[in-house]
Amino acid sequence: MVKAEGVHKSYGAAHILKGIDLEVAPREVFCLIGPSGSGKSTFLRCINHLEKINAGRLWVDGELVGYRQKGDKLYELKDSEVALQRRDIGMVFQRFNLFPHMTAVENVMEAPIQVKGEAKAVARERALKLLDRVGLGDKAGNYPSQLSGGQQQRVAIARALAMEPKLMLFDEPTSALDPELVGDVLDVMRGLAEDGMTMVVVTHEMGFAREVGDNLVFMDGGVVVESGNPRDVLTNPQHDRTKAFLSKVL
Ligand code: ATP
Ligand code: MG
Repeated sequence: MVKAEGVHKSYGAAHILKGIDLEVAPREVFCLIGPSGSGKSTFLRCINHLEKINAGRLWVDGELVGYRQKGDKLYELKDSEVALQRRDIGMVFQRFNLFPHMTAVENVMEAPIQVKGEAKAVARERALKLLDRVGLGDKAGNYPSQLSGGQQQRVAIARALAMEPKLMLFDEPTSALDPELVGDVLDVMRGLAEDGMTMVVVTHEMGFAREVGDNLVFMDGGVVVESGNPRDVLTNPQHDRTKAFLSKVL
């Protein structure tokens, strides 16, 4: 579902991603861990072309991200074509970014109406179902300010799902939450995983990675240091850098 080959990314002179190779299979929960500044968010942002890579190739569902290939040459896609690719990728951030002036259900309806031109009634029906699925069936009429952080984050997940994405990207979705609110959000993500959603999850929740993850990558300094089955990597890390990192977070 996602394939990265030799992906490099720099910001000016700062070389952040230094040749990332990885592959995420369909229906897989792929967890990404690593110290602050190692490039995890940058890599996620490259997957949906919020950042342009400087070298290498990235594919989502067999399509080159942001480019079209003809022979040996790459041509940049137009903004409208990039927007079409992005429609299939849901993203959930650390901060919930809901529209404050819209209720929960309106937040979830917004993209299908605006982006796909869907009829309001259809969008509303799906939105209500999705809110139900994330355990907020009774909060559809609440504004974000009337929801807890964990509830807002679940609305944000429902909002991403409303576009019926092929792939969901999560960037530390629980790290801004009070500890007692983390479990509900992780439960929703676990449910998504059970339903077969392909997910790339940047997280500090090692319990989630161990129990739900199919694959775990430890990144440091813009490279993949170690990867494998989460249980193996977490209980028996092979590299000193992985060991040092895990000793701090576990
Ligand atoms: P964290 O765990 O703190 O979220 P991260 O692994 O997600 O860290 P990134 O956000 O990908 O790290 O950042 C990697 C490096 O790239 C950092 O040194 C950061 O300062 C730099 N960086 C990120 N975005 C930009 C940008 N837009 N312009 C310049 N530098 C950037
Ligand atoms: Mg980050």
